[in-house]
Parts: sequence; structure tokens; C-alpha cells
Amino acid sequence: MELFWHRRDLRTADNVGLAAATGTGDDADRGPGAAVFVFDPDVLDHASDVRARRLLDGLAALRDDYRERGSDLLVARGDPETVLPRLADALDADRVVWNRDYSGLARERDAGVRRALDDVDVEREAHHDAVLHDPDAIRTNAGDPYSVYTYYWKKWTDRAKDDPLPAPSREELVDADVLASAVGSEARADGGSAVDRVAVGDLPTPADLGFAEPDAEVGPAGTAVARERLDAFLDGAVFGYEADRDYPSRESTSRLSAFLTYGEIGVRETYAATTEAMAEAESDAQPDDAPEQVEEFQQQLAWREFYTQVLFHNPEVVTENFKEYEEGIAWRDDPEEIAAWKRGETGYPIVDAGMRQLREEAFIHNRVRMIVASFLTKDLLADWRHGYEHFKQLLADHDTANNNGGWQWAASTGTDAQPYFRIFNPMTQGERYDPDAEYIAEYVPELRGVEADLIHGWHELSPTQRANAAPDYPAPIVDHSERREEALAMYKRARGEDPEE
Ligand code: FAD
Repeated sequence: MELFWHRRDLRTADNVGLAAATGTGDDADRGPGAAVFVFDPDVLDHASDVRARRLLDGLAALRDDYRERGSDLLVARGDPETVLPRLADALDADRVVWNRDYSGLARERDAGVRRALDDVDVEREAHHDAVLHDPDAIRTNAGDPYSVYTYYWKKWTDRAKDDPLPAPSREELVDADVLASAVGSEARADGGSAVDRVAVGDLPTPADLGFAEPDAEVGPAGTAVARERLDAFLDGAVFGYEADRDYPSRESTSRLSAFLTYGEIGVRETYAATTEAMAEAESDAQPDDAPEQVEEFQQQLAWREFYTQVLFHNPEVVTENFKEYEEGIAWRDDPEEIAAWKRGETGYPIVDAGMRQLREEAFIHNRVRMIVASFLTKDLLADWRHGYEHFKQLLADHDTANNNGGWQWAASTGTDAQPYFRIFNPMTQGERYDPDAEYIAEYVPELRGVEADLIHGWHELSPTQRANAAPDYPAPIVDHSERREEALAMYKRARGEDPEE
């Protein structure tokens, strides 16, 4: 018997480590496998109400999947360094298997678990699974990690990709009754101290873990929903992806991010579906540019892998600028302005719509993430770390590498970031990407029924005009043109340049 430790891979299909532990595929000598998820207090310290809910929903779907296969999900609480060796002992498991997690904290935790298993002579094995190409696989010709996306993408797209692996069959998994008796009897035999915090399929509530139910509607979880979304997207929206993806009121993106973050759908499966869609598009009645549209979507999957390798090779980026500014950036960090941004009350409609979408849906459209991030860093001159932390609390799809990559891109401190002098104008961004103000009206009820040109010209209206149009919606809290100049000066000083030049 082998024990598979689920972390950010809450699925049974296309799971490299699970397939190895259960002997799915070629290796008939391995398995059968039992699966466990461990609620680690150190990891929970970094969680939030939104993410606790999302995780529990994903785990419920995973448990049900195992139950349909005649097995179950073991659910443990405690330090994995303690829990896993004891559980391996209780189950008489030969080996503990998991998929690699590439953040600095996760790597430290895994090193501790490796040592703990070595101490009790239990074999262990870690696999690459979360990305199509592991963070060391794609390097420059000089052998360095990439810091420019375009070059990374060229190699990424040329490399052969692995096919998805099937989910384990009933025979390849440990039977639910066997799990129950192994865990149950062991817990009783030693007075409840060895594996006392392990249950078969019994998930805690958010309150048990110290979290509240989130205010946001977190959305459905699990592999079945992810597959439905992927199929629906590849059947239609993907063929207009390049043209539509920047428009937040069009349903033109996959909405797969949280499913990829929690590993409820595998990247090999996702990628294989895109190549199929591409092949069908070439032979079908799709427009001539259909393959390019699909490729544009593949490029986003590659961005995810690009940022994963940035984090892997530079774990310090979680708290530090990737790009150094010799004099340091003197952020303004006005607490009231930051609070207005978080509430979605800046008086800049597209920014407020995005921040309210975040509160309501635990999600923001990508173009709008870029706009709100630019506004925080370059209009409010606030440190990107405030934005990163706020997103980390409220996004259901929070992923350390992508969230950090997105923020450092917007703040011009990251790898392949926006140049510091490129500053989004929030009014023209709104006008361009939400011309009829449909997205804005959806999330900012005070502006419903107000004409789009008034919404997009909100900063130019007089107080009386604003009071007539939407009395409950605030005036802009800052003047974009002034703040733009201040931001340029701030970055120039940080670069050691004269801000007057
Ligand atoms: P689609 O357009 O359908 O893209 C498909 C998948 O590709 C996404 O699900 C995601 O996994 C990946 N992807 C798309 N765009 C990017 C990108 N720019 N960088 C990295 N991966 C990408 N994405 C997260 O998954 N988690 C985050 O915490 C996160 N934080 C962000 C913070 C900021 C400031 C910015 C600017 C972007 C952030 N992104 C993050 C990237 C992007 O906004 C989301 O992945 C995307 O909006 C999710 O919607 P979707 O699944 O419909 O994307």
C-alpha cells in the first residue's frame, strides 16, 4: 500500500503523483493507493475565509470522487511532519508520495516531511505535476532561468507535452472499509494519540478551522465543474478569445483559474483539450484565425508557468521587489486612500467596479485586475504589497506566483514588468474596455441608469452635475493627471534620476 498526500492537486485524473502511488498506467507493481489531505496549521495561518471555503468545497468534491471509486479521502489535522509518518505506520504504507509545490514555504515544509519520513525509514517520492514544464526544465541557452516571457514562451510552446494520465480504478485504490478499520482501530489502540486527528471522509467546517463563511459568493468547485467549463469554453468563446478577452462584460475567458489553483483540473488535460480544439478548428467551419485564438489561450497557461518558475528561482519575490530600484521606492501609502480602494469607493468607476466584483465574487476580470493594480500603485502611490495581501485575502484563485507576478508587473518592480512610465489612465481604460458601462453598472449600483459618457467622464463633471447624475457615488478621491506626475517623479527618484528631467 502507498499513501498519496494531496495538497494543491485536488483531483484523481491527470495526477502524476497519484498515478504513481496507485500504479495507474504502466506500473502494475505499485499501489494500491490511499489518499490523505492534511490541514496544516502553518498553511492555515496564511489562509482566509474565502480560501478556506473554496478549499473545503474542492475537498468535498475530491472525497466524493474517491467514494465513487470505492475508496475515501483520509482527512487529517496537524503538522504533516508528525501526521504522515504516523499515518504511514497505521496503514502499513511502504511509501508516501506527493506532487511538488514550488513556493519557498512549501519547499521548506516538504524538506521537513522528507526528513521525518527518513527518520522512520518510510520511502518518499515527489513528482512534477502542477505545470507542464517544471521550473528547471526551461532555461536560456546560457542555462539561466528566463526573466523575459516572450523568449520563455517560444521554448515552452516548442517543447513536447506529456499526455494526461487516467484516474485510478477501484482496484488501484484502497477500499474504504480497509481505510476505516486501519485508521479507526489504530486511533483506539493507542488511546487516540497517534492518528487521532485523522478521519475517513469527514471534513471540518470553516468554523472548525477558525474561519467564517465569506461574504463573497465563492463559486462551485471540483473536477466535474472544471471540465464543463473547459469544454464550454473550447466549444465557443475560445474562438473569439484574443478579440474579446479584455472586455470584462463579455463572457470570453475560461474562468478556470481557481480550478487550476486548487488543481481540480490538470494542466496536461487542459492543454490536450486545447490542442484538440485547435485541430478541430483547422478542419471545421471556424474562422481562419481560430488556431491563433486557441494559441492565445495557451499563452496564458504559459504565463502561469512563467510566474511559477520566477517564484521557484526567486522565492524572495513574495515580499521583495524582483527589480531593484537603487534608491528604493518611497511609496506614499495613505491609509484612507488604500481603504477607499479596498471598499471600491475611489470615484473611478472601472476601479470601483473591479474592487466590488472582488468582494462579491472572489474574482476580478484580468483586464480589471491590471487597472485596479495600476491605480493602487501609480495613482495612490501605494506599495504593491497592500494590493497583493488584499487579493490574497479575497481572491478564490489566489496563487502566490500569479498574484505576485501580476502585482509586480503592474508596479513595474517585476520580471518583464510594465515600464515605470506606462501608467494606465483609469477613465480611458474604462471607456475602451467597458464602452457601454455594462460591467460598471453590474457592480456599482449607484451608477445604474447613468449614461455611459457621464460615467466615463465622471472626473470632469462639476459637483452639481455629479449630484444630479448619481448622488450616492463619490467624486474622484485623487486627480489622475496630478498623481501621474507624482508617480513618475517617485519612480525617477527611486532610479536615482532627477525627477525634474
Ligand atoms: P483565462 O483568460 O481563461 O486564462 C486561463 C488561465 O491562464 C487562467 O485560469 C490562469 O491560470 C492563467 N492565466 C491567465 N492570465 C494569467 C496571467 N496574467 N498570469 C498568470 N496566469 C494567467 N491569476 C491567478 O490564477 N491567481 C492570482 O492570484 C492572480 N492574481 C493576479 C493579480 C494581478 C494584479 C493581475 C494583474 C493578474 C492576476 N492573475 C492571477 C492573472 C489573471 O488575472 C487570472 O489568471 C485570470 O483573470 C483568471 O481568469 P480566467 O481563468 O478566466 O483566465
